[in-house]
Amino acid sequence: MMEVYRVDDLRGGLVPEGARLAVLGYPVSHSASPQMHQAALDALGLEMSYIRVEVEPGCVREVLGLLEGLGFLGCNVTIPHKLEAMECCDVLSDAVRALGVANTIHFRGGEIFGDSTDGPGLVRAIEEDFGMVLEGARVLVLGAGGGAGKAISMQLHSEGCADLYLSNRTVSKVEELRAGLPDSGTVVHVLGNDAAGIDAVIGGVDLVINATSMGMGDDDDLPMSVGGLGSGHRVYDVVYSPPVTRFMEAAGERGAEVANGLSMLVHQGAISFELWTGREPDTGLMRRAVMG
Ligand code: NAP
Repeated sequence: MMEVYRVDDLRGGLVPEGARLAVLGYPVSHSASPQMHQAALDALGLEMSYIRVEVEPGCVREVLGLLEGLGFLGCNVTIPHKLEAMECCDVLSDAVRALGVANTIHFRGGEIFGDSTDGPGLVRAIEEDFGMVLEGARVLVLGAGGGAGKAISMQLHSEGCADLYLSNRTVSKVEELRAGLPDSGTVVHVLGNDAAGIDAVIGGVDLVINATSMGMGDDDDLPMSVGGLGSGHRVYDVVYSPPVTRFMEAAGERGAEVANGLSMLVHQGAISFELWTGREPDTGLMRRAVMG
């Protein structure tokens, strides 16, 4: 199988027989989704394959039409296509409508459905890694104004957290996010990413989620001031490469329970898989497939 297919390959019908699922991105060669989904498909005896397609910006609508015509069930969508994909959908989930982006597309009855699986994937990940119920929890989200942070924050709000602390370098993004959240029992607090603001609230927090992109590079700064972290905290880093970020290391040294974003990657993928196939994949197998 080719590593990466291009739009011209789809136009010519040059995809492997049995290709029914894909990830669209630009670039897309780094995506771990094919090995993760292929392992789950094979284990269930579903005779189909999952491919990578490199799609230039502006071509998503054409590509979705080509995939549907080739008999695909759907696809994942990654950077930079999540907004463009949403704009091509006929039916949007509530989460996509609220977020303005879609990461999962499926075709049914001649219509294109758009979903977002990051938020529910995070919830399953927190349950798996920490055995933690989010209803009533007090959660600090770092990078709450970014794409992943927004999806996570909206999901935590709908899970009924008691207190939701939304932190972002650009505070206007989290002010806007809070303004769009429906009234509920969750008390939503908005803050920047300065040490004084974080230190003032960290004592009243059970779970910290790093949803910034900080941690992917070796020389990245920590996403927050860690002096207030201790054994009462759980710290989840959405970054999974490297598997132990400097933030996880610093939080772990202070006694916090830590986990990386691999479980979120696997569970958001598993939810996409369920939407396409109606089958429940083996998430342990998916995790091992990503880890190589
Ligand atoms: P994004 O939309 O570009 O958001 C990036 C966020 O990080 C923003 O909140 C941004 O703040 C903040 N940030 C970036 N550099 C910063 C710095 N130097 N100082 C302070 N804040 C900084 O990116 P995204 O798509 O949400 O992705 C964020 C991370 O989540 C990436 O590492 C991605 O790989 C990961 N992710 C993981 C999963 C998973 O399944 N585990 C799923 C999705 C994403 P501003 O708003 O102020 O710019």
